[in-house]
Amino acid sequence: MDRNRHHAVVGAGWAGLVHAVPLAQRFERVTLVERDLLPHGPQHHRGVPQDEHIHLLVPGGLARLEELLPGVTAKMSAAGAHLIDSSLWRMHMGGGQVNLADAGLRITGATRPLIESVVRDRVRALAGRGP
Ligand SMILES: Cc1cc2nc3c(=O)[nH]c(=O)nc-3n(C[C@H](O)[C@H](O)[C@H](O)COP(=O)(O)OP(=O)(O)OC[C@H]3O[C@@H](n4cnc5c(N)ncnc54)[C@H](O)[C@@H]3O)c2cc1C
Repeated sequence: MDRNRHHAVVGAGWAGLVHAVPLAQRFERVTLVERDLLPHGPQHHRGVPQDEHIHLLVPGGLARLEELLPGVTAKMSAAGAHLIDSSLWRMHMGGGQVNLADAGLRITGATRPLIESVVRDRVRALAGRGP
């Protein structure tokens, strides 16, 4: 094995969680560093204050997440996430309304703790599998 690919260390926020998946395919060991004691389940933790807001996953991001973690969309839906046709959204940004009526997109809406906990469970399940 390439000696430089022995151990990867990333944060355990959203970016680190998602990056841990491809890293686990390439590195012998992946460590996630976090200040908070992370919950098992969809609970708030103080390091992510924005988790009080509903979160949307745009289709491109969700598709990439599904490639990394097959079945993750179904798992989120089963846990209570909503797949909503973009024509039903009324999104206002920068003082104007974003026209999504004809976009034909399916946007996922869920609480941030729900999204994070589903992905975190999948990442935890990678532990011990090796590259
Ligand atoms: C109000 C709001 C609404 C948003 N809505 C959406 C949305 O709808 N859809 C969307 O895709 N994105 C949304 N975002 C953006 C999204 O939250 C961020 O892009 C994403 O969380 C960034 O990931 P990150 O890993 O950089 O940071 P975070 O996910 O915020 O994670 C940071 C992590 O670092 C930890 N930490 C902090 N200090 C330390 C330390 N000293 N040592 C160790 N660990 C530490 C924290 O506990 C936390 O776990 C929103 C953001 C905000 C602020």
